Amino acid sequence: MNREQTRRGFLGWANGALAGLGFGSTKLEAAATHAAAEGEDYYEKLGVTKIINAAGTYTALTASTMPPSVQAAVARAAKHPVRLHELQKAAGEYLARQLKCEAAMVTAGAASALTLATAAAMTVGNKTAIHNMPTEVSGLKNEVIVQKGHRYEYDHAIRNCGTRFVEVVTLAEYESAFTERTVMTNFFNAAEHGEISREDWVRVAHSHNVPCLNDAAADVPPISNLWNYTQMGFDLVAFSGGKGMRGPQNAGLLLGRKDLIEAATRNNSPNSDTVGRGMKVAKEQIVGMVAAVDWFLSQSDSGMEAEFRRRAERIAAQLKSIPTLESRIAIPTVAANVVPHLLLRYDTQRVKMSPVEVMAELRRGTPSIELNPNTGKKNGAGLPSDESTIVVGVWMLEPGEELIVARRLKEVLEKAARA
Ligand SMILES: *Cc1c(COP(=O)(O)O)cnc(C)c1O
Repeated sequence: MNREQTRRGFLGWANGALAGLGFGSTKLEAAATHAAAEGEDYYEKLGVTKIINAAGTYTALTASTMPPSVQAAVARAAKHPVRLHELQKAAGEYLARQLKCEAAMVTAGAASALTLATAAAMTVGNKTAIHNMPTEVSGLKNEVIVQKGHRYEYDHAIRNCGTRFVEVVTLAEYESAFTERTVMTNFFNAAEHGEISREDWVRVAHSHNVPCLNDAAADVPPISNLWNYTQMGFDLVAFSGGKGMRGPQNAGLLLGRKDLIEAATRNNSPNSDTVGRGMKVAKEQIVGMVAAVDWFLSQSDSGMEAEFRRRAERIAAQLKSIPTLESRIAIPTVAANVVPHLLLRYDTQRVKMSPVEVMAELRRGTPSIELNPNTGKKNGAGLPSDESTIVVGVWMLEPGEELIVARRLKEVLEKAARA
């Protein structure tokens, strides 16, 4: 059956099935056209559970959904081939203007931006090094200086280039860590540990002519962070596209110095024989990332915060009757995910189900709900949580979903209070 026949078939069926329900055929035509434009529901076809995201921008939960304007831009970009180099260049120039930096590129996510940033620093004056990386780096500068408290699970993205880390703790150690093999420094913007400030970090690196990278992947809002760190002097700054900016999940931004962005581009797809060849960003994601930046810049920090607080308050209001339950709204004290979260604390002697069990129960339910993974954890990710606290991340909910989350929490907690 071709598409038109499928559509007619659907219309015939729908007309028959719904004629008695007061649906006019014009409405049905519109519904069928809409369904065709929307495409088949492949989650349903594949039997994949759609979830309500009351967690936040977690990678394994697909991080975010794109706002309608971004979805539309992606769908439209999919309709036409273009020259990839031309699209990359135009997108980069546009983003650099919007984000007040010298140069910009769309990457396949923040982790990819870290790899390309490292490759850029290693090859900026040496194009043959692009081919030699990551196995033949003995002739290259390959030491990356980092604060001990900034070692993290994304180190691998930097190590992909064949680098090794040199750890420092104090400013004095940092000042004396530079050698002729130092190629770059990395700063983990949302780190909970580390005593060297951003300003000192940049100043000392620059006194040695070494570029500094800042990984600020999850650190918008505030919106101004998109230019704060480049303007502070970081030579390269990485952002995830699919987190707070709600672009495609496999997109990200690398912002910064023109010569380094050009070098990063040379190490990237579609250029073969590069460390970045497997980090291809398709036309849909490049356009989607640009559209997401446009969308994000059209928002305001105060507007977003007010909306997230309203959602949290709406959930809390439904849970007033749960014995011993106290609610509060908190914003993480680290630089990542700086948006209101709802914290629900209760006496597990009275409401006989631990927050971690409540989280599992909501996951098992229909619709399946994911609570924030800091639920039941002590001071998770800069939030004042503990083993008796449920954490609800409200910022990735679709409008109205906060009421579904509230209803499920109420059901589960009321039952536990009766047990
Ligand atoms: C999420 C994250 C990344 C990876 O971002 P992707 O866009 O998924 O590649 C890197 N660094 C930090 C600090 C992050 O939070």
